[in-house]
Amino acid sequence: MIMKGEMPLPFSLVLLILTGLWVLTSLLLYLKGGRSSRDRRIDLMRNGLVRRILKARPFQFILQLPLVFIFLLIILTGLYGSQDPGRNLATVGTWTIWWAGIIFLILFMGASWCLMCPWSAIGDWVERVSFWRKKEGISLRKRWPRSLRNRYPAILFFMIVTWLELGGFITYSPLYTAYLAIFMLGLTILTLFIYERKVFCRYVCFVGGIVGIYSNLSPLEMRSRDKEVCKVCRTKDCIWGNERGYGCPIFEYPGGMTKNTNCILCTECLKTCPHDNMTLNVRPFMADISERYRGRLDESILALTLLGLTIFHGVTMLPQWFLWAIQMIKGKNLFGYISAFTMLEVLSVILPVGLHYLGSILSRRMGGKGSVREIFIRGSYAFLPVALSYHLAHNIGHLNGEGSKILPVLSDPFGWGWDLFGTASMAPFALLGSKALKTIQFIVIAIGLVSALLLLHRLFRDYEVERRGKALFLLPLSILALLYSILNIYLLIQPMVMRTISYL
Ligand code: SF4
Ligand code: SF4
Ligand code: SF4
Repeated sequence: MIMKGEMPLPFSLVLLILTGLWVLTSLLLYLKGGRSSRDRRIDLMRNGLVRRILKARPFQFILQLPLVFIFLLIILTGLYGSQDPGRNLATVGTWTIWWAGIIFLILFMGASWCLMCPWSAIGDWVERVSFWRKKEGISLRKRWPRSLRNRYPAILFFMIVTWLELGGFITYSPLYTAYLAIFMLGLTILTLFIYERKVFCRYVCFVGGIVGIYSNLSPLEMRSRDKEVCKVCRTKDCIWGNERGYGCPIFEYPGGMTKNTNCILCTECLKTCPHDNMTLNVRPFMADISERYRGRLDESILALTLLGLTIFHGVTMLPQWFLWAIQMIKGKNLFGYISAFTMLEVLSVILPVGLHYLGSILSRRMGGKGSVREIFIRGSYAFLPVALSYHLAHNIGHLNGEGSKILPVLSDPFGWGWDLFGTASMAPFALLGSKALKTIQFIVIAIGLVSALLLLHRLFRDYEVERRGKALFLLPLSILALLYSILNIYLLIQPMVMRTISYL
C-alpha cells in the first residue's frame, strides 16, 4: 500500500532522470569551458547517430504518433466517459499532467512540445496528405494580415483559455475539455488550409506563445553553426525548402536566428540546409537573454501577461476564492460572477504592464539615457524567470497533490469501472510531505528572483546611464521583481484547491 508522502518507483525515476540530465548538462558545459557563456555550447549534430536520427524524415512522425493517440483518446474519454473530473483521462491527463508538466518540459527541453504537438501533427498530415514525405500540400496559401503578424492574437487566445479554465471551470468538465481539444485541432487545420506555412503556430497558438517566450531560458537551441556560411549561401534552402524538407514553417530565417522565441524545433532546417550548417545545441540556461537580445513590444507584453496570469492563476486556486465563486454561482448571481471574474482577469494583465511602465519611467529618471519604451521592452524579459519560477512552484504543488490520480485513470480512462493495469482503485497520494514541498517551492522562487536580477544586469550591460550609476538605474525594476517574488511566496504558503476534484 502506498502511504501519503511515500514516493513510488516510476515517479522517483522520472525525478532522478530529470535531475541527472540537469546535473550532467551543467557539468558538460562547465568542462567545455570557453571565454563566455556564448562559447559554451555542445553541438549535438556532431554525433553521427543524433545526426542520422534528426535528419531522417520520419523522425518527427515517430515522436508525434503516440501523442496523437493520447490526444484522440482524451477527446473520446471527454466526450463519452464519466463526467467525474477526477476519474476521466480528459481532465486528469490535460489539466493535471500536461498543463502542469509542460512547464518542466520547456525548462529542460525548450520547444520540444511543439516538435511532438498532436494537433499540429494531425493538421500537417491532413494538409500535406502525407505523414512524413515532403509533399506540396493543398493549402490555399493566403497571406496572414500584416496587422496580425505579432503575438497579440496569442495573448488574447491565452486570456480566453485562462478565462475558460479558471472562470468557466473547464478543468472540472471532461466534456468541455474535449471540446477545447477539438477546437484547437479545428483551428489548426483551418489556418493550415487557408494560410501559408504555419501562421497558427507563429501568431495565434497560446501554447506556442508560452513555449516560445519561456524557451529563451531553456538549455536547448536550434542555430546555424557559422553565420559566415549563411552570409554567402545563395539558395537559402532553410527558408524556401528543397526536396529534403520544408522551408521554415514559422517564417524564420533559421540561418540568422538568435533567439528561441519563434522556433518550434520542427527540425526541417536541419534537413534542408545543403551545407549542414544548422545544428541543435545544448547551452547554458537563459543564454538567449542578454544586451544583444532583439526585443519586441508584443513579446514584452506576452512576458508581462504570463507574469500577471500565473499570479492570477494562484489567486483563483485559493480556497477563499473558490468558495466565493461557488457562492456566486449557487446564488444564481452568474452575471455578477462573470463580470467580476472578467474584470479581475483583465486587471491581472493590465497591472503588471502598468507597473512595469512606471518602473521604466522611474529607471529613466534615475539616469537612463534611452527612451522609456526601450527600457520597457528590454527590462520585461528579466521578469520571465519570476513568472516561470512561480509557474513551476505552483505546478509542483499540483503535481504533488494530484499527479498520482493519473495512475487509476490510466487503468480506467473513461471512468467506466475498467482496471487495465490493476491500478484503478489506487488511492491518491502526495509525493512530498508539506515541509519538503514548501522548501522546494521557496528554493524555486529564490532561483527565479536571483535569475531575474542577473538578467536585468545582463540586459542593460551596454546601456548608458547618466551620473548616478547603473545600480540606481536598475533599482525600480529590481524592486518590482522582489515584490512579485514576495507575493508569489505568500500565495504558495496558502492552501491550494486542486484542478480536478473528484465528486466521489
Ligand atoms: S505552436 Fe501550438 S500548434 Fe504549433 S506546434 Fe506549438 S503547440 Fe502545436
Ligand atoms: S542555414 Fe544553411 S541553407 Fe540556411 S542560409 Fe545558412 S547555409 Fe544557407
Ligand atoms: S525550420 Fe528550423 S528554425 Fe524553423 S521552426 Fe523548424 S527548427 Fe525552428
